[in-house]
Amino acid sequence: MKSGPAALGPAVTSPAAEKLPAVRTLRISEIFHSLQGESTRVGLPTVFVRLTGCPLRCTWCDTAHAFTGGESLAIATILDRVAAFACPTVCVTGGEPLAQGNCQLLLTALADAGFSVSLETSGALDIGAVDPRVSRIVDLKAPDSGESARNRWENIDLLRPIDEIKIVLASRSDYDWAVAACHQRRLFERCTVLFSPVWNALPPAHLAEWVLKDRLPVRLQLQLHKVLWGEERGR
Ligand code: SF4
Repeated sequence: MKSGPAALGPAVTSPAAEKLPAVRTLRISEIFHSLQGESTRVGLPTVFVRLTGCPLRCTWCDTAHAFTGGESLAIATILDRVAAFACPTVCVTGGEPLAQGNCQLLLTALADAGFSVSLETSGALDIGAVDPRVSRIVDLKAPDSGESARNRWENIDLLRPIDEIKIVLASRSDYDWAVAACHQRRLFERCTVLFSPVWNALPPAHLAEWVLKDRLPVRLQLQLHKVLWGEERGR
């Protein structure tokens, strides 16, 4: 009896396989080089890959231009464009990057290529399948965002020390909610917790005073790119 591949005869392509795209693509809003404005990587020169689309509608969203449009790019093309900036640090952001299934492949491809990769995600989708080499910056939506019902609390158990939780705050009531969530979910024991005031809504000095008064082990962050360049797109 014959054995091995020769015994299998000619390859047969199933109808389902024929429908699979030959090239894995993602819908991309923009790819640009700037300084990281947030997280513990703040200030680091970084290439941003912004994916199109988001299932959420936060009241204070500053990237609504990424909800639609963009261009369909093969993952190999995205890697080429990222590499052209000659920068070792990459941030995959959105929109909500994980809303596109091929995002996982992009993250792995970037890590395989040797980049230091972070992912900014809304916290509404499962982060469990993200390549473990990627640092996940996971939002927790406070009530004034209008999207706190979308928080996927199961993600909290998946956080590692290289991940970060980001809570954007628009008011004192948001702050009180965030403090309670941090204690109830033991967030301080899991990873860095970032508190970020909504630009032009909550005065950063107010948030600073509250954090100091309450002796909170959080990192208050401003959006460095907005301090430098305002709300200019692609910065
Ligand atoms: S999750 Fe992010 S991109 Fe989506 S609406 Fe909220 S702030 Fe905007």
